[in-house]
Amino acid sequence: MSQKDLWVSVLKRLQPTIKKANFITWFQNTTALSVETGVLTVGVPTAFAKSWLMDRYNLKILQAAKEVDSSIESVEYEVLGKLNEEGNTFAVNINSLFVDEGVKNVRKVRNLNEVRVGKGPGNKRVVSQMINRRYTLSNFVVGSDNRLPHAACQAVAGMPGGIYNPLYIYGTVGLGKTHLLQAVGNEILKNFPDQVIKYITAERFVTEVVDAIGKRHMSQFKDRYRNVDCFLIDDVQFFARKDSSQQEFFHTFNELYDGNKQIVLTSDRAPSELDGLDERLKSRFSMGMVTELLLPDFETRLAILQQKCGEYGVIMDPEVLCFIATNVQTSVRELEGVLKQVVADMQLFERVATIRSVADIIRRMNKAQKIIGYDIEARGGKIVARSAADIMNIVADYYGVTVDQIVGKDRHRGVMVPRQISMYLIKNELGDSYEKIGMGFGGRNHTTVMHACSKTVDMLKTDLRLVRDLNAIKREMGL
Ligand code: ADP
Ligand code: MG
Repeated sequence: MSQKDLWVSVLKRLQPTIKKANFITWFQNTTALSVETGVLTVGVPTAFAKSWLMDRYNLKILQAAKEVDSSIESVEYEVLGKLNEEGNTFAVNINSLFVDEGVKNVRKVRNLNEVRVGKGPGNKRVVSQMINRRYTLSNFVVGSDNRLPHAACQAVAGMPGGIYNPLYIYGTVGLGKTHLLQAVGNEILKNFPDQVIKYITAERFVTEVVDAIGKRHMSQFKDRYRNVDCFLIDDVQFFARKDSSQQEFFHTFNELYDGNKQIVLTSDRAPSELDGLDERLKSRFSMGMVTELLLPDFETRLAILQQKCGEYGVIMDPEVLCFIATNVQTSVRELEGVLKQVVADMQLFERVATIRSVADIIRRMNKAQKIIGYDIEARGGKIVARSAADIMNIVADYYGVTVDQIVGKDRHRGVMVPRQISMYLIKNELGDSYEKIGMGFGGRNHTTVMHACSKTVDMLKTDLRLVRDLNAIKREMGL
């Protein structure tokens, strides 16, 4: 029996003892890696699945494994990311265990753009805010400061209406609340394609209530929520002091809750701190699981930047990413904002991002009190190159050559142009004499420097590429 077959036998024994949604969530893409000296090593796709299986199912797994192979005495778990890769042959596809049920494929993803409240896209009475497919649980980067909210969302998506009901997620702006909330919707639809998900901001809910009162359509309004299986409501702090909306929400909440429907709420503060909210609501919000999102630590911020670069399809110097992660410490949204600006700059000016250019962007966007990790001479709020050496460094970086080559004797075009441009910039921007510049370039004659400068001026009249390069370099210099 292959390891994989052994694992299939174990799973078949486990399956009747575990709720289907949980079974699918936690055992999808797992496998047996080895059985050695009484130890069964189970491969799991994520660290989260590993801790979940260890904490909750270890005993069950061991018992089932013993039934299949009596030599097994303990179980260990190993995280293997490739088990989640599309089309891999090692992991057990959990759906294959359900084939004889002849029912829907649990992994089938419905087109979310068609998801509306009230079954059927033709239901015009119902206006629902759409869920963004971009927000998933797997592209939410998990670190020590957001592990718990993420885990709670994962649990909810595996078993909506279960123990984490309602789930209340709070944290300051830009830390990923909306991302997680919508990801829960996406994930539930993946696991249970027939469920009706409703996502709405509290602000929108208030508008709808006001609208319904004005048009005397209150009973129609109530109907909107009748057949919702999972209700996702964003930014409930907005209900503060909006009494009739609170009352309406209270009824909706109770009805759904009593029907064992999943409710997930987000807010910028803990339930107890929601001033202007009815006590009854506050206590309902705290009935299930309350969890806080915090600003991710440096490593997680770096991982988020790396992940976003992947999503944007850009490659960036790791040092530059570290620099951003160090300096932007307000929120993930701001982190993303800076990264987007850096990418836009790269595309607009067709140049690579450097610490210097990024420092300039952070300063311009005012995203850091004080820029750390980079020695900046500020003049009028800008970073300015102050010496011939600075300029040579920037030009060399820009053209991908070394300063030694610029100063050296090589007459190859690839170094000639950077050399001439450096001389031109030193002359024009620092005002050094031709003699002094010549000395800085390995003791060259001042006429050589003069010639380089006038040649550059000539070329700038016709060579648009050179103009663009020069502008980009000047920006690097803080000009
Ligand atoms: P909030 O609703 O808390 O104000 P959002 O959910 O709108 O914040 O998040 C702001 C941005 O940051 C979104 O683009 C979101 O995808 C991103 N983001 C936040 N946290 C993470 C994370 N841990 N991993 C990946 N992206 C994140
Ligand atoms: Mg939000």
